[in-house]
Amino acid sequence: MAIVDPEGRVEISTASAKNLFGLRTGLFVRDASVDHLNRLFHSIIDQDTQQYREEEKLFQLFTNGEERYFHADAAPRTDRDGHLTGVILILKDVTEQRHVEELKSGLISTVSHQLKTPLTSIRMAIHLLLEEKVGPLTEKQIDLLLAAREESDLLHRILSKLLDIRRIEIGRSQMTFQAVSPHTLIMEAVETLRRSAQEGGVDLATDIHDNLPLVNADTSQICIVFSNLLSNALRYTEPGGRISVKAETEGQMVRFFVTDTGSGIPDQFLQRIFEQFFRVPDQKSETGTGLGLAIAKEIVEAHGGTINVESQKGQGATFSFTLKRVDQSPEGE
Ligand code: ADP
Repeated sequence: MAIVDPEGRVEISTASAKNLFGLRTGLFVRDASVDHLNRLFHSIIDQDTQQYREEEKLFQLFTNGEERYFHADAAPRTDRDGHLTGVILILKDVTEQRHVEELKSGLISTVSHQLKTPLTSIRMAIHLLLEEKVGPLTEKQIDLLLAAREESDLLHRILSKLLDIRRIEIGRSQMTFQAVSPHTLIMEAVETLRRSAQEGGVDLATDIHDNLPLVNADTSQICIVFSNLLSNALRYTEPGGRISVKAETEGQMVRFFVTDTGSGIPDQFLQRIFEQFFRVPDQKSETGTGLGLAIAKEIVEAHGGTINVESQKGQGATFSFTLKRVDQSPEGE
């Protein structure tokens, strides 16, 4: 930890801040060996948190030939009257945590790959049996095989989604970002779901302002986000209900909303809804995997945005996420 005065000079620092980052008393933070610290300091001084993105808070450092990971954060230091008297820089060594994370996701993707091949054979066998290619079946046998098919289809969906998550994690740097209009993103997403909405008796409406700025997005990935949010909205909304999609400018970002009039999510589960495999207990739909929202979150964060939910049980739900504007200028707000 280090405390820096408003001019950027280190006032006090702990031994590890000195040893690892060279943050000696009197040193200007702009001269520190790690550039992140200076930008973090400025994000507080200039009161511009957009300047320092959440994912940049994690950075790598080589010390004594060893690779270590740190999480950096900053907080303003103020006097009694609320005047800024400096910035507190907090640096946490997260190397162990990071190794555990890597091990976990590596393990998940290896296991998913390994399970896919035998699962394909099982599904094929069930398919052949149900087609009665190897002999006639009794009604009881058909019932059992249909149940087995349903479960193996669910397993197949889970494995595919786990592999999708891994691909997004690995491919963060390979996303192809383009300037796209929010209108195009929404219309592409809504079109693919329009038919299912009609069949489910749910009204699907859009509300897009004309003068929205372009956003920086990988269109196919954002389509996956919308598709997960919209298919959830459909799944948890009864016939006669309504789903609306809209977008509006919010500072340097554009916020997209998917609102439904469905069953809603009880308060105590809102925090956990984006976790992998989390599903609200005792709900009607049994076909989900609990991975759709985790994937949506992963994609939105890879774009430098955030995803949120607001809901009350029985009152419908609103999911919203942000994407960066391309122009980044105040016009058009
Ligand atoms: P699932 O495949 O189970 O839908 P998700 O990750 O997409 O997985 O969603 C996690 C859980 O969040 C769901 O099981 C459901 O309980 C809840 N949920 C998601 N979207 C909605 C919604 N629009 N309305 C009510 N509950 C929702």
